[in-house]
Amino acid sequence: MILKLKPELNTQQRDLFISFLQGQGIDFLLREIYGMHLCLIFSDIENAQIVYLSSLPFIEEVVDTPKEYLLASNTWKKSSTCFDVEGQIIGGKEINIIAGPCSVESEEQIFKIAEHLHSLGLKFIRGGAYKPRTSPYRFQGLGIDGLKYIRKAADAYDLRVVTEVIDSSLIPEVSEYADILQVGSRNMQNYYFLKQLGKINKPVLLKRGMYARIDEWLMAAEYILSAGNEKVILCERGIRTFDTSVRNTMDITAFPLIKSLSHLPVFSDPSHGTGIRNLVTPLALASVAAGADGIMVEIHPDPDKALSDGMQSLYLEQFTDLINKARQVAAAINRSLDNDSANDKQKKQNICVE
Ligand code: PEP
Ligand code: MN
Repeated sequence: MILKLKPELNTQQRDLFISFLQGQGIDFLLREIYGMHLCLIFSDIENAQIVYLSSLPFIEEVVDTPKEYLLASNTWKKSSTCFDVEGQIIGGKEINIIAGPCSVESEEQIFKIAEHLHSLGLKFIRGGAYKPRTSPYRFQGLGIDGLKYIRKAADAYDLRVVTEVIDSSLIPEVSEYADILQVGSRNMQNYYFLKQLGKINKPVLLKRGMYARIDEWLMAAEYILSAGNEKVILCERGIRTFDTSVRNTMDITAFPLIKSLSHLPVFSDPSHGTGIRNLVTPLALASVAAGADGIMVEIHPDPDKALSDGMQSLYLEQFTDLINKARQVAAAINRSLDNDSANDKQKKQNICVE
């Protein structure tokens, strides 16, 4: 339930109204939504209270979020969400490329990868330090050391760090080293955790739950948005279907569908989306063609020796090939990749398009 306050309210009237509500013991969150109006967001409110509140003079509109998500939808916000991450625009016309290993394995490994990304003019590196492994006997990540290595490599090669945070207790630590916090597929429905991520001032890349419908995924984004963090990136990473010939079924439908329902940027992860190295490039290209705003790919200098997800990790040369092909597909739909403007200083930088 969301109540929009009248825009003509002055600060004094607003504060008076807020303390009146607080005095009634009503629990709500007050926030400005997309610079439009101040809104009161209620997660738990009785019908009688709604009727009462909507009769008050300072209320412009009562929105009974019929779709269960509103901030993530394009009902109010028509323009695409676009923001800056350390000088790089996410959600603009240019398609962002994020690449790196599944897990940070050593300083040497992550430096080798960072150097390769830099040579291609790329701006984002990924790598897990805390790994949500299906089996407790598999490599669990280097933890804080992994974060330190990826940060060091990123700083040496002008890259921004995307890394997964697997628990609320780790948010402060991961935020110290990461530029974008990734929420893994397994955590997409950890609602308490999502609320905590709504309180931080760092972008969150929200993977689609492997069993999640599109509306459930948007409701997960709504948890982060309604708690106050507007910098959310959705990332399709494949879903479980009856077909066992692939690790997951990459849902290409998600890109145009999300674009029709939401203003949020939507990225593609064809590595987890397929689980098979040779399928990664075709699915990355299909995602670009279908409207993905970014691609996140697992790469490794020696995938056969990778400590996690080697089967789906591209060799560095294969990744270079992916970039060259993705550039052509992007051009066909009048877009470009985010490394291209960096290569040509004269070219207009990526900007947020209203
Ligand atoms: C990952 O990106 O390394 C990862 C674990 O992804 P997912 O949560 O999509 O399985
Ligand atoms: Mn992985």
